[in-house]
Amino acid sequence: MYLKHSLSDDLVRYKGLCFSYKTTQKSSLRYRVVVGIGGNIGDVKRRFMHLFYYLKKQKQVELLQTSSLLQNPPFGFLEQDDFFNGLLVLQTSKQPRHFLDYLHRVEKKFARKRSFANAPRSLDLDIIFFDNRVINTPRLQIPHKEWSKRQSVVIPLMDLV
Ligand code: AMP
Repeated sequence: MYLKHSLSDDLVRYKGLCFSYKTTQKSSLRYRVVVGIGGNIGDVKRRFMHLFYYLKKQKQVELLQTSSLLQNPPFGFLEQDDFFNGLLVLQTSKQPRHFLDYLHRVEKKFARKRSFANAPRSLDLDIIFFDNRVINTPRLQIPHKEWSKRQSVVIPLMDLV
């Protein structure tokens, strides 16, 4: 169940048990990571709830906090459904590139299909911040290159501070 609140003509915020979540539990894992989640195929809000419970059970990460979800229009390729986006605060002891591999395994599990840039997707997971690290390799840029330009990151980020 989600509570729905229109922020503007094309932005809608959804809050629920799993999104706008925060635990006071302390983590024993080393690094704090902010992960962006996105999708626009099928029942995305339901898939995100499954993702929440899946991550809660995982030993490799601890899920400490989530933002509310933001429904927002697509960019790039416009002939597709609105996106739902949110942020997760996770703790992990993995190094960034291993953590990225881990996120790709989770995407696969939730049946992400890679087709073309900005194409519709069932689950997209991006590393937005990884502690206070700065990484600039061809495969991984941290902080995420586009984070400050995307409403889908900046608006949910306000829930986390
Ligand atoms: P996308 O299709 O937008 O999910 O982009 C996928 C590719 O972006 C991945 O295979 C990564 O190698 C690359 N990438 C670069 N920086 C990041 C980041 N901070 N988080 C996730 N993927 C990244």
